[in-house]
Amino acid sequence: MRKNSTMKNRTPKSLLRGRAAVVTGGVVAALALGSTAAFAAGGTQHEGFLAAGSTSTVAQAVHQQAAGQKAAAAKAEAAAHKAADMAKAKAAAQKKAAAKAAAANEKRAASWVTPTTGYVLGAHFNQAGSHWMHKHSGQDFVVPSGTTVRAAHAGTVVEADWGGAYGNNIVIKHGGHLYTQYGHLSKFLVHVGEHVNTGETIAKSGSTGNSTGPHLHFEVRTTPYYGSGVEPVHFLKEHGVNP
Ligand SMILES: [Zn+2]
Repeated sequence: MRKNSTMKNRTPKSLLRGRAAVVTGGVVAALALGSTAAFAAGGTQHEGFLAAGSTSTVAQAVHQQAAGQKAAAAKAEAAAHKAADMAKAKAAAQKKAAAKAAAANEKRAASWVTPTTGYVLGAHFNQAGSHWMHKHSGQDFVVPSGTTVRAAHAGTVVEADWGGAYGNNIVIKHGGHLYTQYGHLSKFLVHVGEHVNTGETIAKSGSTGNSTGPHLHFEVRTTPYYGSGVEPVHFLKEHGVNP
């Protein structure tokens, strides 16, 4: 580009010089100094040739400059387009991420989890046993005392109190005629009326009430009361949890 701009800067001087030579040549010819005139004419021609060459170089330079400006404009436009595309892609990615997060939240809200972790399954539903008046109304999750007990599903705590044979027990209402119950607790960490999310800590396990050793007694019920229990392991499996 430097070469072009140099040529462009020099060109008007060459043109001026060419015109001056023509005038000089005319004057010299009028004085009838043939050879000098011929020389001058030659010079004029020469200068004229240079001037013509310079003119075409000017046109070329102008054309090149215009082409350069056009290319730069196209480049800038392409860059602007690219930036716009990137912004669009970024916005789309953000929207996608937000939708994914919302879906995950929805799934979490709709999901179920085991009522505790690090357990061994104990007495199962409907199992007959010497320390139950009737058949076992839930599923035992054998864990050491003080283990975190969590809400198997989001809901509202409707009972957090002494439950006779169940010892300290919690009942959560989930809606849709579904309740879960957690028995033999050592410590309550929620109170009646409190909303809990799926997996939220609600208590510490223990061995209170009619219990032969530390474990969590867990029931899934269709009412808040004893006797409406359904088989919890099967229920959890139906809700994507494999205890
Ligand atoms: Zn039990």
